[in-house]
Amino acid sequence: MHTLLIKVQHTIMDDKVDELIAHLTDGLEMAHEQIATRKTNNSSIRELISAFSVLLDILALHKDFAGYFKTLPNEALALLRNEPVPIDQQHEIYERLKDKLLSINNHVHEISHHKNVFAKYLSAHRPFFEAYITLWSQLITSKISPSAVVLERMAYGVLNLLSLMVEQHLVHQAIYRLTEQDEALIVRYNQNRIMRIDEALMEGCVTGESIIQHPNNQRIPCLKCGSYAALKGYTEHGTNGLYFIAFGFQCTQCGMELFDQKDLLLAGIKPIYSI
Ligand SMILES: [Zn+2]
Repeated sequence: MHTLLIKVQHTIMDDKVDELIAHLTDGLEMAHEQIATRKTNNSSIRELISAFSVLLDILALHKDFAGYFKTLPNEALALLRNEPVPIDQQHEIYERLKDKLLSINNHVHEISHHKNVFAKYLSAHRPFFEAYITLWSQLITSKISPSAVVLERMAYGVLNLLSLMVEQHLVHQAIYRLTEQDEALIVRYNQNRIMRIDEALMEGCVTGESIIQHPNNQRIPCLKCGSYAALKGYTEHGTNGLYFIAFGFQCTQCGMELFDQKDLLLAGIKPIYSI
């Protein structure tokens, strides 16, 4: 790999990491305060959403650096792909394209782009994160407003994605040390999850599962009130055909909600259906 490419990669990655640190620090600090006071606004959500998207930019850059800049002219892509470029032309190409590279680097991608990046490189983790990515999508399209519950879910989602990326050596753990408040949020979230589902199971009138299966629309009886409602999910091709992967549930009658796939599993609901 020639030194010019290494230089470009380092500059771009360093920029992204700085951006990530700023969004994580501001977003989580605001989120903790707003959750505690129950006075929420869009500023914390905006920062958390940015942290989520920058984490996925870093993932995309790590996995396919040249692909990230695929809208660049071919001569620049050849340079990024480490294909032979006459040495006397390298600096000229880089100088001409530097601003363009930086502007692409600063480009805010559509959520569909991030979803594709996630599905491509972290597919094994999609069942858990799908609920959080869907929440992110609903927030940016203003389908829901940032209540304390929503804010806590987003913060939990971001902290989980950060920890997954650290585990996979995609970001260094030293870039952001979890604060006491971050740790407390994770513990509280997991305890609430158990309490909420235990309560629903105790109140519940349904024993055993009786699923009504349709492609893309698996309906199950609500744990609390027994009325049927659709599982939230997506379809995926597997080794033996098409599967429906459930990641959540919301009853339209009583409002009972199982937010992510961990909730479903705790409630004893099967998350994968052959269709
Ligand atoms: Zn219900």
